[in-house]
Amino acid sequence: MLDIQKIRADFPILSQKVNGKPLVYFDNGATSQKPIVVIEAISKYYEEINANIHRGVHTLSQLATDAYEISRGKIQYHINAKFAHEVIFTSGTTHSINAVANGFASLLNENDEVLVSALEHHSNIVPWQMLCEKTGAKLKVIPMNENGELIIPEYENLLSGKTKIVAVNHISNALGTINPIEFMIKKAHEVGAAILIDGAQATPHLKPDVQALDCDFYVFSGHKICGPTGIGILYGKEEWLNKLPPYQGGGEMIATVSFEKTTYADLPHKFEAGTPNIAGGIVLGTAIDYLNQIGFDNIADYEHELLEYGTKKLLEIEGLKIIGTAKEKTSVISFNIDGIHPYDIGTIIDKLGIAVRTGHHCAQPIMDFYKIPGTIRASFAFYNTKEEIDALIEAVKKAQMMLS
Ligand SMILES: *Cc1c(COP(=O)(O)O)cnc(C)c1O
Repeated sequence: MLDIQKIRADFPILSQKVNGKPLVYFDNGATSQKPIVVIEAISKYYEEINANIHRGVHTLSQLATDAYEISRGKIQYHINAKFAHEVIFTSGTTHSINAVANGFASLLNENDEVLVSALEHHSNIVPWQMLCEKTGAKLKVIPMNENGELIIPEYENLLSGKTKIVAVNHISNALGTINPIEFMIKKAHEVGAAILIDGAQATPHLKPDVQALDCDFYVFSGHKICGPTGIGILYGKEEWLNKLPPYQGGGEMIATVSFEKTTYADLPHKFEAGTPNIAGGIVLGTAIDYLNQIGFDNIADYEHELLEYGTKKLLEIEGLKIIGTAKEKTSVISFNIDGIHPYDIGTIIDKLGIAVRTGHHCAQPIMDFYKIPGTIRASFAFYNTKEEIDALIEAVKKAQMMLS
């Protein structure tokens, strides 16, 4: 059992009032709040060891480099990567996906195919479209059903010797659907395709094991797992990272440079051009330590309770429809209310201190599928409570009364 009040005390922002009401933060799918240990670790870095890494022989540079590499090791251990050099620091999920998509440009031609799913975030669609435009390869889409689940037999039909890479999310940010990625990874490998898993929405709720999954790439963002913005991870199997050309050129990623020829540095530096977000990289390790202390099993159990409670309570509201009713779901509830635009509900309940996301959630194709402009999305984290869900219900009812 989690001591939620004790956990909440770790998050200074949660005790705030917004518009005169206690803040109810249900926009965790967009970004998580930060515990005090993370906030303090950022100032500690700047107060005590700030220096550029991998460069200076001086003491501070060595301390900063050590802290950065220790954090890489923590992340390696957390996702169970085989080698630390398979863990690349990026600025976030978007950067990670672009680095991989860009790398594939030299490997594809017009006879090849790239598969994405109907459930993707724009970050896992647009880079692949750009890749296809550049190479002439074809983009194919794994379809979904009314519940918001991928249609797996259709996926198996789409796979062929032409498929070079599959890109799919572990968990959908718009609907909360958990995709059967173990099976999808196995099937991709059967036709010789690589597979990238977008773990941005999964890593707040579970601890991925990249070796057990056997995925070729797994990407996520620090800011959704209690870390700062501007830091993220690209995990890639060593053989793939060696095969792909670097995404950006510059300092740090080279072995030797002359005007005739430049040779690239070894992994992970080949993919880490320029001065990185040093504080962010170090503190991402602090955030992961914090989450592991709470325990991902505890987090999953408690969030499941919130999901069940929230689903039941919301469905008691007349005219309310939940969008995304997959059997396997995390604590994300997208909903609409008959005859009312999601934006109007969002605006009114904000006045009551409640933060939800309204709109298409960077997943317009999903909204097109349901023929709706968007949804109201409440996404719960382990620091939320049932009392906060009650406040959401009251606020939604009030908004509904005012708007109808
Ligand atoms: C948030 C999110 C992204 C994009 O992450 P950034 O941190 O904005 O780069 C991509 N995919 C999914 C599923 C997400 O939830």
